Amino acid sequence: MKPFAYVKPADVEAAVRAAATEPRARYLGGGTNLVDLMREGIERPDTVIDVTGLPLGTIDDLPGGGLRIGALVRNSVLAADRRVRARYPMLSQALLAGASAQLRNMATVGGNLLQRTRCAYFYDTGAACNKRERGAGCDALDGFNRGSAILGVSRHCIAVHPSDMAVALAALDAVVEVRGLDGTRRIPLTGLHRLPGDTPDVEHALAPGELITAVELPPLTAPSRYRKVRDRASYAFALVSVAATLDVRDGVIAEARLALGGVATKPWRAREAERLLTGGPADEDAFRRAAEAELAAATVRPANAFKAGLARSTIVATLRELTTEGTAR
Ligand code: SF4
Repeated sequence: MKPFAYVKPADVEAAVRAAATEPRARYLGGGTNLVDLMREGIERPDTVIDVTGLPLGTIDDLPGGGLRIGALVRNSVLAADRRVRARYPMLSQALLAGASAQLRNMATVGGNLLQRTRCAYFYDTGAACNKRERGAGCDALDGFNRGSAILGVSRHCIAVHPSDMAVALAALDAVVEVRGLDGTRRIPLTGLHRLPGDTPDVEHALAPGELITAVELPPLTAPSRYRKVRDRASYAFALVSVAATLDVRDGVIAEARLALGGVATKPWRAREAERLLTGGPADEDAFRRAAEAELAAATVRPANAFKAGLARSTIVATLRELTTEGTAR
């Protein structure tokens, strides 16, 4: 591992100042895969800013029924919080479906959001990877890509975003609060992560030095559900996941919110499916039409073509479950 300076600031302002004055600094915040990547020589920061001691570890009620979740709240704490379990069951389910209990005890909300892809070629310094080195090429395009994305891909990168939590947050219309040298700003969760396009090495909308300080959840009264399909029952990334909430009144869908994981280069808000569902009947035919419309834009390869069908059936199963099991908590 390349030598680096280590600093542990006492407050948020000091952390942001330290990051802003050192262009090759990285925040160390708990559960990211930063240390793994440093061991492999893929991340090579000059300075590591340890933010684990900052006072960002509380979950607070917001007026109107929402929640403000500090960026350093541990995933296990968030999953077990009685308010999250009662008001946002899909978020609790997504957290419990992610990683192992030991990792959930260490992983933080901010670290989870900014974790990097697990694409095998990204980790292999002998392989071509545009995310590691812009313009180098992408060995996943014609290589081992069974787990790669089918939505939001480009000819430069097809890596899946690995987070379960972020998929639930996308469906919940979460807002990310970030602090920089110029003060605090708020970014919709769906705008935090970037599509790969021509620059897959640029992964999020944060300016240099900006620190995630909290995530805010607007109130939710409708039932919600997170469903994850994977190769084995624990400690595996999603092949497909669906986060969904349906507000059904007299058999008609007043509001549908849907996000997909395991199939896209960022937490994928399924806007086309939502558009088709809203105002229509809450029945199997409507669910199937919405799922087919959302996956119509998929770009598949022989090894990952199965994901399109799996995503369609998982969307339908999740929506069916929501309408037949009520609150699904
Ligand atoms: Fe790198 Fe993305 Fe290609 Fe994987 S899919 S090798 S992360 S450019």
